[in-house]
Amino acid sequence: MQLVLASGNAGKLAELRELLGGGRYVLRAQSEFGVADAEETGLTFVENALLKARHASRATGLPALGDDSGLCVDALGGAPGLYSARYAGAHGDSAANIARLLRELEDVPDEARTARFHCVLALLRSPDDPRPVIVEGSWEGRILRAPRGDNGFGYDPVFLDPENAMSAAELDPAIKNTISHRGRALAALKARLA
Ligand code: IMP
Repeated sequence: MQLVLASGNAGKLAELRELLGGGRYVLRAQSEFGVADAEETGLTFVENALLKARHASRATGLPALGDDSGLCVDALGGAPGLYSARYAGAHGDSAANIARLLRELEDVPDEARTARFHCVLALLRSPDDPRPVIVEGSWEGRILRAPRGDNGFGYDPVFLDPENAMSAAELDPAIKNTISHRGRALAALKARLA
């Protein structure tokens, strides 16, 4: 059965293909069908994941998988949260996003710099499916005072994984994929689809 991924991100597609490999779903990118990104107008990760999936399913007539993720920092009341990609203004400017985050947390002591990455995946069998499969994953950590490491993307260089005492950008990508918010959500999805 074909399943459309409601994202233009090649990395996410590769990760999901690997995870769903051998199952009954063949994953296709929405760009293969000429579908543009949906507007992320929801106020929660769940709403945005559903909006993305519904948009892709409606446009293609196929089941679709939407995802939404972000970084939630306790000392900032959960910000940047839904707005993680555009925290400093321009969409996806990671250096500027990190600079703003570190500035906002300048006076926050180490023990109060707790944060988590969160990821929601929503699978709709049809655009009007009233019973979507929704799974979530979280990754608990702390915000460092300066970037460390070269792997990964987004906020990885300033997100400390306390278990490994490394930033997400210092971790081996294969290890990051098993412990990350997205990895955990994907594992939950696989279990639900089994
Ligand atoms: P989206 O889920 O593609 O909308 O991504 C939201 C934003 O959250 C990204 O642009 C990053 O800024 C941030 N983000 C989500 N997951 C990660 C991660 O694994 N590492 C670093 N930043 C992330």
